[in-house]
Amino acid sequence: MELVSTPPLNKYDFTRLRNMWETLVLDVVSGLIQRWEMCDCQDCILDVTALALNQLPAKYWVLDKYDVLTTPESFLKDSNNRRIAEESVLKALRLVEQNPHH
Ligand SMILES: [Zn+2]
Repeated sequence: MELVSTPPLNKYDFTRLRNMWETLVLDVVSGLIQRWEMCDCQDCILDVTALALNQLPAKYWVLDKYDVLTTPESFLKDSNNRRIAEESVLKALRLVEQNPHH
């Protein structure tokens, strides 16, 4: 059982806690799969996603709470952030292709 579904943590909604890089990295991975630019097996997709995220600094956000100051959309739409996510995924992809677990 997940720790967040046991007391006392189960009364809090941790789904509101998001690593913003995860959204960008998954979007880049999604594009690679759709363009047939990487192996689309479970092992490769999860390995590339994990490696790409590990290379990036964590960027956690509490959804709905801080949206007044800057929105998650502004982070996601920032072209520099997108470029950083793409570079991280491509670096991870090279590593996984050299040493695939499938
Ligand atoms: Zn594969």
